[in-house]
Amino acid sequence: MQISGTTKLIGILGHPVSHTLSPRMQNAAFQSMGLDICYVPLDVSPEALKDAIDGIKAMGFIGANVTIPHKVDAANMMDRLERIAAITGAVNTIVNESGSLVGHNTDGIGFIRALEEVVDVDFQTARPLIIGAGGAARSIAVALAEKSIERLTVINRDRQRSSDLKVMLNASFPDLPVEISTFEEDMEGPILASNIVINATSIGLEGSLKMPPVPVDRLTKDHVVCDIVYKQSQETPFLAAAGGEGATTLGGLGMLLHQGAAAIRLWTGVEAPIGVMRGAVESKRTDKSADS
Ligand code: NDP
Repeated sequence: MQISGTTKLIGILGHPVSHTLSPRMQNAAFQSMGLDICYVPLDVSPEALKDAIDGIKAMGFIGANVTIPHKVDAANMMDRLERIAAITGAVNTIVNESGSLVGHNTDGIGFIRALEEVVDVDFQTARPLIIGAGGAARSIAVALAEKSIERLTVINRDRQRSSDLKVMLNASFPDLPVEISTFEEDMEGPILASNIVINATSIGLEGSLKMPPVPVDRLTKDHVVCDIVYKQSQETPFLAAAGGEGATTLGGLGMLLHQGAAAIRLWTGVEAPIGVMRGAVESKRTDKSADS
């Protein structure tokens, strides 16, 4: 990559950002597209977030990605929020439109595109079960609701958080039936009633949490099981067990790629080279999780 006086910048704002795979993935895309753009990691503490976001304007960045822990705070610092970001209350992509910062959220659509790569989904009859109610779960829930799914179940440790998710969803999708539950309640019923099961927690990642988030013996070949954690092997303990029950499985790499590709489209107006991005990430697999 040649950095020159005409090179334009895009940053990823997070804390920490040393683990992120996005610079590798996005720079490979820009190079392959022949664009004079450099994508840089920016470790920004929560206290410095406002200054950093003002800096996007001051330094004429094309835009930025936003990752943990800034997605919600950044949403409150935008000049304008695109509809999905406004519903979700979180931003993962900022576009600098001539000095006006517009916040977008491409996480949910990234998940949908990854899902569509592995299965032919009839969303109108889909009955997803999301495990988790954090930022990623909220983005996925909104993207699924946008697809007019039949109903949604959310299982989360903290019931208040899943209740907040339900309120957020029903404010924009009042006709969508949303059930909420915790790990202490019946798990078998929600699993049997669902056809897509999505782990959007960090359970199954490492240490004592390296276990499936729900009992897997009720999963069947009719389930699509997704774990959005991105790991070296793509085969989390949950996916391995679900695959053993005959379920179709999907790891977190596809979501990572497609949320990044959607961001590139927003910044450049051009389709991103998914194959190049996939190659860049796969050639630098680490055993750490990545969310963007
Ligand atoms: P948040 O911190 O917003 O949410 C974390 C979620 O995990 C909450 O639902 C939380 O439950 C749950 N959780 C954490 N620890 C436990 C535990 N010990 N037992 C039960 N539940 C637990 O994080 P995000 O939503 O941003 O990210 C979640 C995961 O998704 C991460 O692993 C992240 O790397 C991955 N991700 C992947 C992406 C991709 O592109 N592939 C994109 C974004 C995220 P509670 O509310 O009860 O605390």
